[in-house]
Amino acid sequence: MTILDGKKVSNDIKDEITEQVKKMKAKGEKVPHLAAILVGNDGASLTYVGSKVKACERVGFESTLVKMSNTTSEVELLDKIHELNEDPNIDGFIVQLPLPEQINEQKVLLAVNPDKDVDGFHPANFGKMALDMTTFIPATPFGILELLDRYGVETKGKHTVVIGRSHIVGRPMSILMGRKGFPGNSTVTLTHSHTKNITQITSQADIIISALGVPNFLKAEMVKDDAVIIDVGITRVPDDSTEKGYKITGDVDFVNVSKKASYITPVPGGVGPMTIAMLLKNTLLACERHRKNV
Ligand code: NAP
Repeated sequence: MTILDGKKVSNDIKDEITEQVKKMKAKGEKVPHLAAILVGNDGASLTYVGSKVKACERVGFESTLVKMSNTTSEVELLDKIHELNEDPNIDGFIVQLPLPEQINEQKVLLAVNPDKDVDGFHPANFGKMALDMTTFIPATPFGILELLDRYGVETKGKHTVVIGRSHIVGRPMSILMGRKGFPGNSTVTLTHSHTKNITQITSQADIIISALGVPNFLKAEMVKDDAVIIDVGITRVPDDSTEKGYKITGDVDFVNVSKKASYITPVPGGVGPMTIAMLLKNTLLACERHRKNV
């Protein structure tokens, strides 16, 4: 069994990006600039945005964190998005989700300039992804593809089962694994909360990508020998023995499933760090594309 070490691979990617940024600086070029809008004080969101800003510093990007209060109106947020759309110094930006309930998430995602949509959530970019056109692939699916690629995991002709159909992970993942190319060329089954007899489906899978957010959902008896297991789940489970009072837990019963798997991602240290690395990669791509258009 091989651990798909997202921490190591993400550090490799960050090192590669750092080198590229150094070359840009040496040529006197502007370095990539990522902005993040955070609305409200959600603990997990604060942590995620903090990690993204730190990752920018690590690779030499510029970063801007725009903090807005929990009572921000939709109009105020849309105004801020338009400002970032127009700002030539910003190559890409993200709006951290979830948003407070007074704000319509779809309106917000539609307002982001697709050329700066480094999260790849805008319908124009999602459509391009589905049509194999050059675009920004959402960071978590992009990170999973990169892990499979760097470990040379065969996906052609395999049966991939994706659990969860969210717009940011499961749905794009199902499209990407079924596309022509590598990683891809899989036969894909997309499952969700209405799927019947899920064990029957997962136990036939060569590759399982689990993104539902239910701790330890995927048990050893649901998995066949030598399956490839990608665990996207991140759930904070209360745990008094830790300083923070919680423990990050994945969707997969790692202890038992890892005994049967050929490859498996740990949680933490698997898909999570890859997501941030690929957000940086998308920002670098955005910067390069903007430069070419100038
Ligand atoms: P989400 O929006 O929370 O949706 C969960 C999906 O799982 C839905 O499609 C739901 O089906 C499905 N589901 C729920 N119970 C199920 C069951 N018993 N059997 C089969 N499917 C079931 O999903 P998400 O935003 O993709 O998040 C999923 C998990 O990934 C969360 O733990 C999240 O924190 C984590 N995550 C991690 C990263 C990372 O960087 N590692 C990034 C994003 C998300 P319905 O559509 O029928 O409701």
